[in-house]
Amino acid sequence: MGELRGRFAPSPSGRMHLGNLFSGLLAWLSVRSAGGVMVLRMEDLDPDRCREEYAVQLADDLLWLGLDWDEGYGKGGPHGPYRQSDRTELYAAAFRKLEEQGLIYPCFCTRAERLAASAPHRSDGQTVYSGKCRNLTEEQRTELARTRRPAWRLIVPDREVSFTDGVQGRFEENLLWDCGDFILRRSDGVYAYQLAVVYDDGAMAVNQVVRGRDLLDSTPRQLYLYELLGLTPPEFYHVPLLVAPDGRRLSKREKDLDMGALRQRFTPAELTGLLAFWAGQLEKPEPVTPAELARIFDWSKVPENDITIGNEL
Ligand code: GLU
Repeated sequence: MGELRGRFAPSPSGRMHLGNLFSGLLAWLSVRSAGGVMVLRMEDLDPDRCREEYAVQLADDLLWLGLDWDEGYGKGGPHGPYRQSDRTELYAAAFRKLEEQGLIYPCFCTRAERLAASAPHRSDGQTVYSGKCRNLTEEQRTELARTRRPAWRLIVPDREVSFTDGVQGRFEENLLWDCGDFILRRSDGVYAYQLAVVYDDGAMAVNQVVRGRDLLDSTPRQLYLYELLGLTPPEFYHVPLLVAPDGRRLSKREKDLDMGALRQRFTPAELTGLLAFWAGQLEKPEPVTPAELARIFDWSKVPENDITIGNEL
């Protein structure tokens, strides 16, 4: 592999929380410890949830901790634009490429129908789409399109896709039975995360993706899209999630752990020390800067399983 290119790909749908920062720090350390290039891309595709003011705040929160980037949002670079909402034409072209191969069909199912017609297969509780609309005739499609705007799904084959994750090890899924035909474009016209993230990481020449392990089981689908679009996939590192003592995942709803509250309570070095301790890089939480950590960063010390945070906070 040539130069290492990693990225932050946050969704500006609220203030960042501790969990986002944890994966962000690991992505940054991995790139900086190898002298690579860091890219910041705002994943603001969903107009109902994302706001520019959150994006501005997010960039400020990353810089407060000491996590900088070389290319991307607010900086520019050769692979822009770096805001997904400015890249719709590019996703439309990728979508057409798949459509021309006969791989996409309109799905008229409502959410309730989708749930009723699917089998609850996946470990994360998500349902696998039954393929109900895959075999509609042209007449049925025309008829249904009179009253409903369809979402658009990709046809997946009955095929195992496996890969070796840098933290989680070997992971395998059957595209048809574990994932099912998945949505590439919503009925309101918004392109789906799966399409946009693959297209962008490919087009931005990202060759290392570090993110939360909640996205581990999206990866086989994404690898399939890389193949169909003729793009080179990156290496993946799915890092553990931070969970509350009662086992709940931290989320943007936990106001006491969002960056607003954390910036009041900790200095950047104190917070980095905590995150580095959870990431297995320090024996105990003590103040340290990201730049200092980059000198000792070691992927093999990053734990595989979710991390319960409690007393340290
Ligand atoms: N935008 C996604 C999120 O904030 C991350 C996507 C990715 O890293 O692949 O959850």
